[in-house]
Amino acid sequence: MVNNTGGEMKRFQQYINGCFEDAAFSFESLDPSTEVAWAIMPEARETDIDRAVEAASSALHRSDWAGLTASQRGQLLYKLADLVAENASYLAELETRDTGKIIRETSAQIAYVAEYYRYYAGLADKIQGAQLPIDKPDMDVWLRREPLGVIAAIVPWNSQLFLSAVKIGPALAAGCTMVVKASEFGPAPLLELARLCDQAGFPPGVINFVTGFGPECGSVLTSHAKVDHISFTGGPITAAAVLRNSADNLASSSLELGGKSPFIVFDDADIDSAANAQVAGIFAAAGQSCVAGSRLLVQSGIKKKFLAVLRAKAQAIKIGSPMDMDTEYGPLCTQAQRIKIQSLVDQSVDAGAELICGGVPAEGPGFYYPPTIIDCSKVPKAPAVVHEAFGPVLSVLEFDTEEQALELANDTDYGLASGVFTQNLTRAHRMINGIKAGVVWVNTYRAVSPIAPFGGSGLSGHGREGGLEAALHYTKTKTVWLRTSDEPIPDPFVMR
Ligand code: NAD
Repeated sequence: MVNNTGGEMKRFQQYINGCFEDAAFSFESLDPSTEVAWAIMPEARETDIDRAVEAASSALHRSDWAGLTASQRGQLLYKLADLVAENASYLAELETRDTGKIIRETSAQIAYVAEYYRYYAGLADKIQGAQLPIDKPDMDVWLRREPLGVIAAIVPWNSQLFLSAVKIGPALAAGCTMVVKASEFGPAPLLELARLCDQAGFPPGVINFVTGFGPECGSVLTSHAKVDHISFTGGPITAAAVLRNSADNLASSSLELGGKSPFIVFDDADIDSAANAQVAGIFAAAGQSCVAGSRLLVQSGIKKKFLAVLRAKAQAIKIGSPMDMDTEYGPLCTQAQRIKIQSLVDQSVDAGAELICGGVPAEGPGFYYPPTIIDCSKVPKAPAVVHEAFGPVLSVLEFDTEEQALELANDTDYGLASGVFTQNLTRAHRMINGIKAGVVWVNTYRAVSPIAPFGGSGLSGHGREGGLEAALHYTKTKTVWLRTSDEPIPDPFVMR
């Protein structure tokens, strides 16, 4: 099939029960840097989802998966990690093409993706039960850790390979089976990951990949009777819909949602280093990052100087084609996202905020929006301060004292990430203790590791990804009581 410029479009397929297949419906995917349709994606609806969940459900107890030892599951994950590393440049190109995220970032991120799979491959045979020291001499009592069941994993458009690895790695290490739903925006890399899972040798049905839209695909998946757990990453409004859906199947859930993370700079901070970290925190990935440090809180004494340095850095960012290795900043993923961001900026400026740079969408093809900084000191409740833009918009507020900094930092319904820049060790500790967030970065920002748990509270969701904790989340315990005495059971009318 050709697109409106006469170019041949690539066709992707869904992966259900070990087979690649077209869905009954399909949709076109746009290259966000050109706005030209470049691929046809399979659009899963009820019958596809039902087959995918049935496949995962029957694979869960089938001997070719349930009969594997934990080390054998780990070997499959090691193989997947190797395949991801071997195919890194192709996967990075697909992600860049389909989401507009710059190739520099997607290439670097793929290395982390392989590391996450390796980490969970190594953890597979370290997920252990426990012997319980029960106070009854004639009983052996222990906890078995069993797979949680069929997992519905749902991811948003940004960093789909990365955001799915933090679900797939621990879930498969624990022996679960999965239906992974890629976002309807930029699903290409995940549909290609299905090929690598197939090559790695996971038995049919253990992991299934689909994509589609919220109501027809996501809702059907999250309310399916055979789904045991929903691992969701996305926005809080969708998360609420997911929880309503799971009222039908009583599935448990972990929710990794948005943020409005404070980035706090004290007057003793290394200004250049803090400004670089702030650029990384809000303008990397054109701000489409859940951990975006989108609220700069700066101490009044250095505000003017810090904003001047930051503005110069923001304006020097190299904007261009996401496929070019020199490009530092690409387009947003969708036009809808650009409209939403513009509205947030306009409303804030109308309310009295002062635009320091950016604030006007770029002309020409592609969903480009420039790095934008808005001083909201006179309107601390401006929309740009309160609402997640999920884009390159930095709101600025100032403070005088540590107490004020903490008060402003915690004046949000979100609680995902935070950054503190200071040379004062005891102050850093006081801030770490007081900040309401799942992650605190001190004198750094946007650092990750498979070993470090990640997650938030409030509107940022619940549950943690990464680390051993995440693998345990994908298990359920079974308590076993074994009586070791051969004597007849005494008084049957008394609880033992
Ligand atoms: P979104 O909530 O609109 O969509 C996320 C996923 O949910 C998509 O796959 C979508 O198709 C699906 N979906 C939509 N409606 C659904 C429904 N009714 N039932 C089930 N699934 C449904 O999010 P988005 O706009 O694609 O992504 C941006 C959001 O994701 C931001 O809030 C961002 O902060 C958040 N995010 C969080 C993290 C994290 O780890 N905390 C990481 C990345 C992004």
